[in-house]
Amino acid sequence: MYNPKSLKAEEFISHEEILDTLDYADKNKDNLELIDKILDKAQLKKGLDHREASVLLACENPERIQRMYDLARQIKKDFYGNRIVIFAPLYLSNYCINGCTYCPYHLKNKHILRKKLSQEEIAREVIALQDMGHKRLALEAGEDPVNNPIEYILESIKTIYGIKHKNGAIRRVNVNIAATTVENYRKLKEAEIGTYILFQETYHKESYLKLHPTGPKHDYAYHTEAMDRAMEGGIDDVGLGVLFGLELYRYEFAGLLMHAEHLEAVHGVGPHTISVPRIKKADGIDPSLFDNGIDDEIFAKLCALIRICVPYTGIIVSTRESQSVREKVLPLGVSQISGASRTSVGGYCEEEIPEEGDSSQFETSDRRTLDQVVKWLMELGYIPSFCTACYKEGRTGDRFMSLCKTGQIQNCCHPNALMTLQEYLIDYASPETRTVGEKLIKEQMPEILSDKVRSLTEGYMQDIRDGKRYIRF
Ligand code: SAM
Repeated sequence: MYNPKSLKAEEFISHEEILDTLDYADKNKDNLELIDKILDKAQLKKGLDHREASVLLACENPERIQRMYDLARQIKKDFYGNRIVIFAPLYLSNYCINGCTYCPYHLKNKHILRKKLSQEEIAREVIALQDMGHKRLALEAGEDPVNNPIEYILESIKTIYGIKHKNGAIRRVNVNIAATTVENYRKLKEAEIGTYILFQETYHKESYLKLHPTGPKHDYAYHTEAMDRAMEGGIDDVGLGVLFGLELYRYEFAGLLMHAEHLEAVHGVGPHTISVPRIKKADGIDPSLFDNGIDDEIFAKLCALIRICVPYTGIIVSTRESQSVREKVLPLGVSQISGASRTSVGGYCEEEIPEEGDSSQFETSDRRTLDQVVKWLMELGYIPSFCTACYKEGRTGDRFMSLCKTGQIQNCCHPNALMTLQEYLIDYASPETRTVGEKLIKEQMPEILSDKVRSLTEGYMQDIRDGKRYIRF
């Protein structure tokens, strides 16, 4: 029985409701009157439910698809401006006891080079990341209670926050580790993590069980209900995601939105972010063997529709995607991207030597340096943002969402993005990138609408040039 308020996975992600939704979407995919009505509702920028969203996804009318893209662009502009938040993943350990068939970490893979970073190695990785200019990390680890217990993750977070190298600092650590207990989520909250990220992989239970044949991750309900436990443990920013390619994308899209509706219905706050990873080639993993791969057009449509359906939720695109795909989806609603990522354990300090084995999780498509990514974004008219202020100022969960909903977020995010970019330009940028960036900051200052905030920002910019760091609204 479908019930968004239920705490049972099979009730808030109801298989029957998804099948009914897809059927409804199929029947109405040419119903232009209904589609226009849904698009008119979307124009109010308050989001759409999974049924309405699924009709738009099924619709193939080029004019209406254009309207979806235009709307996604508009919503992105209104809520996120031209800012793109930058982060990097940090792989701590690839020891894993699960059997996920799409992931090279699976227990039966005897070929992959297993590695777990010591605290000293983590410190070295963090210094390398700080030297690039990163301020925000996503921690990644396989699931292994013996090799990667929660104590290891907590100690690693402490190490990361504790490293102050030159003007660098990691100011926000997001965590992407396997589903765990309320008690462990409470510990992660106490360790001051930003967002807890966990990809559902697939919402289709039957497929989920086949794709996760062994290990703790096999438990579909435990995995799907993880965000409720995280919120019970006090974490109020959670990040959802689906690994596109495993199941039919239309099924996943409906499930993803139902999960967001469930979080809103039970906890009063939807997901902070949604990630849209696609399966990539990896050690012993051939993505073409999974039948449900999506092309770049569908990928773009999904990004645009997520933007329209959950306007207050950030969209994350990783370096799994190439420069050109990223360029295509950035204007459609993406708000965060990773840059200069390494998916191997220890990969920021040492290059992989193939003859010595590979510890990486998957092949990345965007291999550019952070400086190149920052310059590229600015040349496209975006402001690369290293901002982490919301989290430091307690603007998380429902407080962040209500700021977003009243539009107040614009008074902090825009100047904060410019100030963190200024820090980056002074501390890390190449001369060419700095020239492009200084020009961009000059152009963007008048876009701060409040006279008071603009004049404060001008003063803060001078403070940054004088050596002060981490000034924020
Ligand atoms: N071990 C944690 C868990 O169980 O959720 C998460 C960490 S894992 C390092 C991060 C994510 O990488 C997974 O949730 C999965 O979606 C993704 N991933 C695994 N194999 C992949 C592949 N071959 N291509 C792209 N992404 C992959």
